[in-house]
Amino acid sequence: MEALDKKIQFLRGVGPKRSLLLHRLGIETVFDLLWYIPRSYYDRNRVQSIKELQDGQNCSIRGIVVAASLKRSRRGMSVFEAILQDHSGSVTAVWFNQPFLSRSIKKGQNIWARGRSKLVYDRLQLQVQEYDLLDQDSTSHMVMPIYGLTEGLTQRSLRQLTETALHEFLPNYPELLDPDQARRFRLIDIKTAFWNMHFPQSGENYKEARRRLACEELLLFNLGLKKLKAAQQIYLGVAHREQDNLVQEVTQQLPFMLTPAQRRVTTEIFADMEASRPMNRLLQGDVGAGKTAVAALAIAKALSSGYQAAFMAPTEILAQQHFRNMKSFFAGLKCNMALLTGSLNSSLRQPVLAGVSSGEVQLLVGTHALIQEQVQFAKLGLAIVDEQHRFGVRQRALLSDKGIKPDILVMSATPIPRTLALTVYGDLEMSVIDSLPPGRTPVKTVFLRRERRSQAYQLMRRHLADGAQCYVVCPLIEESVKQDLLAAQTLYDELRTELAKGFKVGLLHGRMRGAEKESIMESFKLGYIQVLVSTTVIEVGVDVPNASMMIIEQAERFGLSQLHQLRGRVGRGSRQSLCFLLADPKNPGAEQRMQLMTSINDGFRLAQADLSLRGAGDFWGVRQHGLNQLQVADLSRDLEIVEMSRQLAAAFPAMNSLQQKYFDMKFKKASYIAAN
Ligand code: ADP
Ligand code: MG
Repeated sequence: MEALDKKIQFLRGVGPKRSLLLHRLGIETVFDLLWYIPRSYYDRNRVQSIKELQDGQNCSIRGIVVAASLKRSRRGMSVFEAILQDHSGSVTAVWFNQPFLSRSIKKGQNIWARGRSKLVYDRLQLQVQEYDLLDQDSTSHMVMPIYGLTEGLTQRSLRQLTETALHEFLPNYPELLDPDQARRFRLIDIKTAFWNMHFPQSGENYKEARRRLACEELLLFNLGLKKLKAAQQIYLGVAHREQDNLVQEVTQQLPFMLTPAQRRVTTEIFADMEASRPMNRLLQGDVGAGKTAVAALAIAKALSSGYQAAFMAPTEILAQQHFRNMKSFFAGLKCNMALLTGSLNSSLRQPVLAGVSSGEVQLLVGTHALIQEQVQFAKLGLAIVDEQHRFGVRQRALLSDKGIKPDILVMSATPIPRTLALTVYGDLEMSVIDSLPPGRTPVKTVFLRRERRSQAYQLMRRHLADGAQCYVVCPLIEESVKQDLLAAQTLYDELRTELAKGFKVGLLHGRMRGAEKESIMESFKLGYIQVLVSTTVIEVGVDVPNASMMIIEQAERFGLSQLHQLRGRVGRGSRQSLCFLLADPKNPGAEQRMQLMTSINDGFRLAQADLSLRGAGDFWGVRQHGLNQLQVADLSRDLEIVEMSRQLAAAFPAMNSLQQKYFDMKFKKASYIAAN
């Protein structure tokens, strides 16, 4: 029996040269080849006759090459042209920037091609997207797979290799599911699934195969997470005390009553903290749901148990705000706290570091600076990470190394559907604050095209005259920090001299120094500044209840979750809040984002919509997870399969050695879970 992890150069038909080409596609073993899923398919017999082609159509045709030549366009692009002829007529097929095709496509060959037909100077052209040489394939397959290729490798050779692998190696591919499980979830067997994924006979066939393979990889992934989670459980962590006065005292001095949702998640967190195994919990809650107060209570519990706590935020402004909040929540109570950010100069920094390592500083609030090496805690019992989408798994691990095995609470305002969260954050327990504090009126969101921009500012002036405060968010310019700054400056000047003339305008941007930012934020908070012009530094967490209006310039440049985060800065007081999206969307996606923002206020529903618009791609820093190595499953569409795979994984007691072996083959490049 031949092993599936056999190196690809030893597969029949692969020599040293081909194996290098295959490596370029990420195919190192026979196993990888089996999992090298076709990019698309075509049915050899479903073609149009050339005579029927019309301008602007997507179509596929078959024809004989009657002439072929390589040309150069006026803009220097290479254009390969072949005249294809069938029984009804002929058409010029063109390929851009693939000069090497002149070596493989020759006169007399029989070709299938798919693309877009286009009228160019009164003549119809076929701009080819996919093609295939038909004569060379003697196979009986009607539906042909099209694989992603690299130069030097042809469809035909990859198909042949895949067929060889399917014949010779697939018999050894293990079936992880027992017949009952397969029946229950209507899953076909793994061998049929591989055959039909590469060479389906029908659309139905393909769907079944895809469903099984997507489930297979998600099952392995979930088994890996389960193992990781189990590994975390064996560490002895900190058992915080059950009874403590500090928690009660802080609760009493909060300026509000906790909502039922806040109380529920606090109970969940406390139960974890009291247990001796380390907590690894994700606290999810829409923007403004009130996560900070929950964090304060967890901190109180850690301190009264005699441990230190760390509270880490992604930006300096946010760290400062948390620090201020903690000061007021703990006012008059016994809690020695310090702030540590990157901009703290070394003479101020040294005493903080000394206090942290002696244990005198009980609560350390800060930015990434917190996970730097010089920071040594005497007795860290709790680490809280706010806005987790900016922190990777690796940073979390670093933080965890700071203490014995401190409890970790990750807070996120990027809500995602529960089923998905259980997979994306599968190594974390989850608590969700699912309702907002009372008395909020939903933010009214209005989408205006740029030509009507003045209307938004007119309304802003009325709001300001009324005593309210406003944010104006600068367009996001990703290419250059310098330009970012310029845009902010320009907008600021425009507001001062024109749009908000007579009102107090402030400017906040990412290039300012910490102290400068802090004083601007403070002035805005106290109302000395009425209009705050800002780059996206205000994106996360900033809390100024009197700000009831926001104008986002060139909103089309922002992603949906970013817009939602921004909008979350208003609607925190009792006044009806307004958010203007000024945009000239240039593509349907951007247009759709604007529409979604105006119609949906709920973060979870927006996240779901965002997911299906964008795909899971590199959302939420998924990259480090190994989720990017899913070859079949699409997290944005396959929620049903995600759920199914979780249920299946739950049914297995623990990862057995066979599953482990296949997990390692599948996720060998996902260092995060594979290494564990
Ligand atoms: P987020 O979850 O986005 O971090 P915050 O913790 O900043 O939200 O809270 C948002 C606002 O809601 C703050 O002004 C906070 O004081 C207020 N808040 C939090 N909890 C409550 C509550 N139970 N009742 C009333 N207001 C609350
Ligand atoms: Mg927050």
